[in-house]
Amino acid sequence: MANRKHVEIAGGGFAGLAAATAFRQRGWTARIHEAASELRTFGAGIFIWENGLRVLKALGAYEAVVGAAHQAPGYEGRDSGDRQISYHTFGNDCRMLTMTRQHLYSAMFAAAEAAGVDFETNSEIVAADPAGRLIGADGRTHKADLVVGADGVNSKVRESLDVATKRTTFTHGVIRLLVGRRDRDLTSTNPDNVINYWGPRLKVLYVPCNADELYLAMMVRKDDAEARVIPVHKDIWSTEFPVLAHIIGRIGDQGRFDTYETTKLDRMSVGRAALVGDSAHPMPPTLGQGAGCAIMNALGMAVALDEAGDDITDGLRLWEQRERPLTEHTQDISGQYVRARAGSDGANKWDATAMRTARHIPTGTAGISF
Ligand SMILES: Cc1cc2nc3c(=O)[nH]c(=O)nc-3n(C[C@H](O)[C@H](O)[C@H](O)COP(=O)(O)OP(=O)(O)OC[C@H]3O[C@@H](n4cnc5c(N)ncnc54)[C@H](O)[C@@H]3O)c2cc1C
Repeated sequence: MANRKHVEIAGGGFAGLAAATAFRQRGWTARIHEAASELRTFGAGIFIWENGLRVLKALGAYEAVVGAAHQAPGYEGRDSGDRQISYHTFGNDCRMLTMTRQHLYSAMFAAAEAAGVDFETNSEIVAADPAGRLIGADGRTHKADLVVGADGVNSKVRESLDVATKRTTFTHGVIRLLVGRRDRDLTSTNPDNVINYWGPRLKVLYVPCNADELYLAMMVRKDDAEARVIPVHKDIWSTEFPVLAHIIGRIGDQGRFDTYETTKLDRMSVGRAALVGDSAHPMPPTLGQGAGCAIMNALGMAVALDEAGDDITDGLRLWEQRERPLTEHTQDISGQYVRARAGSDGANKWDATAMRTARHIPTGTAGISF
């Protein structure tokens, strides 16, 4: 096909996979450069809300994702003495699914492969040129109609484009890990719920991913040198949350600690180079929407460029105008919730402002029904 366009993408995470698949579906050729030697994800569990599920449906990954994901009957807040302080249900019109990250990644990777995306592993990208080139650490240059930096929070593509960047860091971070689930793990409430346990010093988010795996997100101040260590200091966490002591006791050496940050850019594209996902708009995980926004914006980019035809920069302008307001809203609310410890006083944090992203109909998914 003479006019077939081509996109080169740095980063094979959720944003890169979603962008490549969406462009392939629109007749482009697409190649992902992944710095790592394998295509896989790190981290433990993940929340995907209705907005993200719509995008997964558009990308052809939905059935595989929901097939082995968990839909919690409720989202509870409990204090460190195991008393309920809040309870919320979301219903089937705005679902909140939880799963392991690898499960989500495998489904998205399979959809990308089925769409005909090309992959290069061990291919670190060190810069992008707004004329439409990615530059590899090995000195190779990859030319395309569009180049995309989907290379995560420490994006080299972003740095090379010299876009004005406002980075906000927060006082807290989180240890994430998976442990096995057992039948009688919790007896005082429904063990299928997602449960936020609030202590005076620490917080544990208990998240069933499937029948066998439990995701624990353990929030701690980043200056709390004693409690933030890996392997997890089980005594400290079990003393704060006695009801979880037997689960905490099962933790081995696994886990990783990440701090929270928000980055806002003056613009998400320069010429024929665009940034999407954590390279452009990372946010604290308090709403569970970082990957949701990443895949919404990746699909939205392909749709906007399809609409704009041959004018790539016009398409990117349209894309930014459409997608940035909701992304920035999501970043703002996520940041506020870290500062306010929303939910720790029994307040229900899932109000209409917080739920705006989950209830949004992402660009390119208006005709979708499940
Ligand atoms: C604690 C925590 C909990 C979270 N929970 C949720 C949640 O429940 N729900 C949700 O929606 N979001 C959540 N998020 C956010 C979510 O993880 C991110 O928004 C999402 O992973 C971003 O995807 P990405 O593809 O942009 O970046 P990444 O997932 O970081 O992927 C970037 C990819 O690029 C590769 N790469 C990096 N540098 C280069 C380079 N120079 N050249 C080539 N390749 C490169 C990396 O190896 C990686 O494969 C959470 C985040 C944190 C920190």
